[in-house]
Amino acid sequence: MPFWPLAPVAIAQAAPNFIAVITLTPESYQHILSDVFGYAQFRGPQQAIIEHVGAGGDALVLMPTGGGKSLCYQIPAIARQQAGHGITVVISPLIALMHDQVGALHEAGVSAAFLNSTLSSDEAYQVEQRLMRGEITLLYAAPERVTTPRFLAQLDSLFERGQLSLFAIDEAHCVSQWGHDFRPEYRALTVLHERFVGVPRMALTATADDLTRADILERLQLEDARAFVSSFDRPNIRYTIVEKRDSTQQLLRFIEREHEGEAGIVYCQSRRKVEDIAQTLVDAGIKALPYHAGFDAKLRQTHQDRFLREEGIVMVATIAFGMGIDKPDVRFVAHLDMPKNIEGYYQETGRAGRDGLPAEAWMGYGLQDMVNQRRMIDESPAGEEFKQVMRGKLDALLGLAEASDCRRVRLLAYFGAPSQPCGNCDNCLNPPDVWDGTDAARKLLSTIYRIQQMSGVSFGAGHLMDIVRGKLTEKVTQYGHESLSTFGIGANFTELQLRGVLRQLIAIGALAVDAQAFNTLQLTEQSRGVLKGEVTVRLRESVSTPVERKSRRTTRLSAVVKAPINLDSEGLMRYSALKAWRAEVAREHNLPAYVIFHDATLAAIAQRAPQSLDDLQGISGIGAKKLEAYADEVLRVVALA
Ligand code: ADP
Ligand code: ZN
Repeated sequence: MPFWPLAPVAIAQAAPNFIAVITLTPESYQHILSDVFGYAQFRGPQQAIIEHVGAGGDALVLMPTGGGKSLCYQIPAIARQQAGHGITVVISPLIALMHDQVGALHEAGVSAAFLNSTLSSDEAYQVEQRLMRGEITLLYAAPERVTTPRFLAQLDSLFERGQLSLFAIDEAHCVSQWGHDFRPEYRALTVLHERFVGVPRMALTATADDLTRADILERLQLEDARAFVSSFDRPNIRYTIVEKRDSTQQLLRFIEREHEGEAGIVYCQSRRKVEDIAQTLVDAGIKALPYHAGFDAKLRQTHQDRFLREEGIVMVATIAFGMGIDKPDVRFVAHLDMPKNIEGYYQETGRAGRDGLPAEAWMGYGLQDMVNQRRMIDESPAGEEFKQVMRGKLDALLGLAEASDCRRVRLLAYFGAPSQPCGNCDNCLNPPDVWDGTDAARKLLSTIYRIQQMSGVSFGAGHLMDIVRGKLTEKVTQYGHESLSTFGIGANFTELQLRGVLRQLIAIGALAVDAQAFNTLQLTEQSRGVLKGEVTVRLRESVSTPVERKSRRTTRLSAVVKAPINLDSEGLMRYSALKAWRAEVAREHNLPAYVIFHDATLAAIAQRAPQSLDDLQGISGIGAKKLEAYADEVLRVVALA
């Protein structure tokens, strides 16, 4: 018998082919939330989802990354098992993370196991035996495993005994070609619905767009399922988008000033750049590791494990890294290259601050990013219609990057939710000055026109700006461009300003980049409106950031102990002692530290300075099992600190 008290439930008789009517009450779920997971309250729509699925309903759950999807199936799984319905099968593509997910449940006192290709046949056999004996509450399995004849036969046997309680299909967007992680194996999951009629199913994902969502419902035949769509706001994440100058230095400054010693993810577009940037960070004394799909599986797993298990690692990665990473204390996500669209940006930045504590999403972007992304679309072998959709998505992201108003308002509007300025993004905190770039825009466009007339060819941004600013470069004299009537008419503008104008012109379609011809700039239909003065071009003023770097010594010292809440010096001592103790336990259990206790939980303990078991009650994140397992040690560590 489990040791947590359950609210009164009508225990259903497990009978073959009999789907029982259960009367799990809202209190039973609340009990599990506090006793097993140690949390006081449900978040957002968690309670509604849990009650619906607990009562045997099908569901589609759309929640942002870090929103708390896991509890939405874990709590119904525990409750339904208690009510006699047997096992929940969690289908997930995240093989590399299953070990830790199951470990986290064990820590909370929940019986769980996983079946995937990392197990030896003997280990897999052991799991199957436990499964058939009804000893497992949650079983995690990869989709290709679930649909094997052998596994289906085992599920048949459980089903016949009324011991198949629920299917939770995690990362459900993998079923869709429109999602960004299509896995053909997911398509075969319709067998669940056809074969195990009446067993509730829920699909969970953080991918929000309508196309993917409709596809999930159709592919998994969940048309009649109830849909739960959460707010996509992540209020604890601060969004900052800066113009790239020397982006590596900007990144270094950002990490050293704001996030020294903290865990973060840096996204780069190419494998080569991932390795270069990781090396640069290491040279600067930052604990950084590279990750991309070009490394073999073993190295990837090692780096992932280190990121999850050690403190303060910065992972420099391509987008191959991140799905399912549930490390709660990632304090920043930085983009050194612009993603393809807002969905990607939001998914990646969402990996910061899952613990709800302040976190940052930082992106550097520039003209080159726009050019590259446009080119990738133009050069892709996709059909014209598809390219048009992709261009539209890119434009929305460019709009976000160029915005001088609240970033969050724009992000949420993109996902269909109106909102008010947030007070927690760069533009809200430091409203940028806006200047009228119409004059500069006309000067640039008319110069392109004149070059075209004179030389019959187009040039790239650098040469164009040199002409407008009146710089006599070798190339300028080579082509005789100093004789153009527009030579030097924009000498009063800085290169930075002109770059901003060019970006804006590309963003509004008044300038095209010809990828086939060395990224040269071409006039478009829309250029005319700007040239005639019918369209105004408003731009954010580039704020120059000071270049000096903080002395490493002082930052080092202040970064020694950084607690998520304000603690006095004794509190900080307790906090660091607790962290050291936690690291040891995590190592012994071969699990990431946050699986034992979150930072916020340790900080709360440090603040309360508990002297008895009673003092530990009610601290968020300490469930009954953890209290039983760790209370004595925690009290001892606190007493000695
Ligand atoms: P998702 O899968 O949606 O990205 P997770 O399930 O990993 O999110 O949850 C994110 C974090 O929020 C986890 O660290 C989890 O422990 C925490 N969490 C979830 N629900 C609650 C809650 N009701 N109260 C406190 N913390 C919660
Ligand atoms: Zn804002």
